[in-house]
Amino acid sequence: MMSKQNTLGIIGGMSWESTESYYRLINEGIKNELGGLHSADLLIHSVDFGPINERQEQGEWSELGQMMASSAKRLEAAGVQGLMIASNTMHKLFNAVQAVSDLPIIHIADATTQAIKTQKLTTIALLGTQFTMTQDFYKQRLIDAGLEVFIPKDEARTEVHRIIKSELCVGQFKDSSRQYYQQIINDLAEQGCEGVILGCTEIGLLIQQADSPIPVFDTTAIHAAAAVDFLLATNQ
Ligand code: GLU
Repeated sequence: MMSKQNTLGIIGGMSWESTESYYRLINEGIKNELGGLHSADLLIHSVDFGPINERQEQGEWSELGQMMASSAKRLEAAGVQGLMIASNTMHKLFNAVQAVSDLPIIHIADATTQAIKTQKLTTIALLGTQFTMTQDFYKQRLIDAGLEVFIPKDEARTEVHRIIKSELCVGQFKDSSRQYYQQIINDLAEQGCEGVILGCTEIGLLIQQADSPIPVFDTTAIHAAAAVDFLLATNQ
């Protein structure tokens, strides 16, 4: 049977450790849906994360916006019908991408909100980089969608961020860091959180459902599932 898919453009490499997860999860999703030798119709622009991380630290967000916009244009010129940014943090530049492209862009926080609402939860913990946990581009979007959002305290946020950047993004997965994240999740669950957003695309490489007393919402898996829906929505 011929099964036509849309082509999806992924701005990835942020970090490549999680883009690898996206690639596997999206292909597994297509295989589940279409069977046989079917695989996902993707174009991935995998960027060099080194200079991007430096620019984040320097607060050079307008340069980063230009980089994301230019990546989107390259994917669009190559013929994709939709786009996604494979990083929660880099959704800070979602508007910069939207400004240069009329293509649909699958927003990671919107897909995650939908998954949370499907489970009828409203009070949610958010773990991610400092940017994602504290800034309006992400947290406020969840609040605007009707969720109550809890984040770790100051010191814990610094450590959650450090583990992402110094360990997970370079492929290090330590038991001590897993235990640290578990402790943070337990604390937030005790404060009343009904679920926890793994709001950084590498956290799912460290923490799984079995590590948490409350439901985990792995943004990589959720975003990848939304990508599969988009690839298969050829009649819309
Ligand atoms: N992949 C991470 C995220 O989802 C962090 C890397 C980045 O700063 O883009 O936020």
